[in-house]
Amino acid sequence: MSRISPQPGIMEIALYEGGQSTIEGVSDFVKLSSNENPYGPSDAAKEAFRKLGMNLHRYPGTDHAQLRGAIADIHGLNAEQIICGVGSDEVLQFISQAFAGPGDEVIYTEHGFSMYPILAHACGATPVKVPERERVVDVDAVLNACTERTRIVFIANPANPTSTMIGSNEVTRLADGLPEGALLVLDGAYAEYVEGFDGGAAMVQARDNVIMTRTFSKIHGLGGLRIGWGYAPKPIIEILNRIRQPFNLSEVQLGVAEAAMRDTEFVKKCLVDNTRMRAWLAKALAEIGVPSDTSCTNFILARFASEEEATACDAYLKSQGVIVRKVAGYGLPNCLRITVGDEAGCRRVAHAVKSFKEAAE
Ligand SMILES: *Cc1c(COP(=O)(O)O)cnc(C)c1O
Repeated sequence: MSRISPQPGIMEIALYEGGQSTIEGVSDFVKLSSNENPYGPSDAAKEAFRKLGMNLHRYPGTDHAQLRGAIADIHGLNAEQIICGVGSDEVLQFISQAFAGPGDEVIYTEHGFSMYPILAHACGATPVKVPERERVVDVDAVLNACTERTRIVFIANPANPTSTMIGSNEVTRLADGLPEGALLVLDGAYAEYVEGFDGGAAMVQARDNVIMTRTFSKIHGLGGLRIGWGYAPKPIIEILNRIRQPFNLSEVQLGVAEAAMRDTEFVKKCLVDNTRMRAWLAKALAEIGVPSDTSCTNFILARFASEEEATACDAYLKSQGVIVRKVAGYGLPNCLRITVGDEAGCRRVAHAVKSFKEAAE
């Protein structure tokens, strides 16, 4: 046995599996497996990328003041309570690294985002999985699972891959009921898809035990560039900044994100379009016997009669050049997660599922 061994928890990590991005031998495919914006980023963001790509030899700034200022302007927040990271994943990592370790418990829910247990193991803490109720976070179950060792509760609201969300009264009840010393992390990766929703920002403002994370990867169409941010009480931001690498974000990331944040017209257009196509897709699938919960996100969790049917449909979709996401690893073996694409993408996936169902009859 080698004496070189990793820290506790690290060997418990099951590697993250991303959505499939290609199909062997097929060039005309549509990718609906990673909840990406089908329109890509805004023109303003692409223009910023072109300009900033010419100046690569200088180190970036370390305080992200301009991007934080833009986020604060657009969302009506306090710039001093914002931290920026390499995707919201990095912000979630700062949180787990700063606040949990061996002997501590990190709560996530039955169908919760798979990064949460990975992050808990990575810092040596114990992930605790709590049941949901019909694919919705169950606040009572979470509160019942809390112990004096609970340090963090991770909730995505709206959630991935279920697409459901809980209301602000429920979130408040959760934050109120947490043991002292435990933080509630509200992952708002899909908050922009709920019209008028602040992602939990007002709750962060009003309390000392809530953090919100947000991303540029979804509605802003910048998953490839890796930028996210968090909003937390100032004392918590000061803690997180101690473990943030000073040069974690390049000027390209910072500048493109700022342009994307300020292009509110583009975000509005994407929201309207997603809402329209999501309703169309959910209805088209329901009509052919594939129901889904009312989605608050840019994807639909399509429910099939059995694991066999979901697996067979996934294989058929692939043969038709349509890539969706199997979510058996999330405890949803009879479901497929389908990103809401543009109109052509939605029509293509609905048509393919229909052909699959007809062939099975
Ligand atoms: C997509 C997603 C994110 C975003 O991750 P980034 O690192 O910002 O790309 C975070 N949380 C959930 C639940 C997601 O689905």
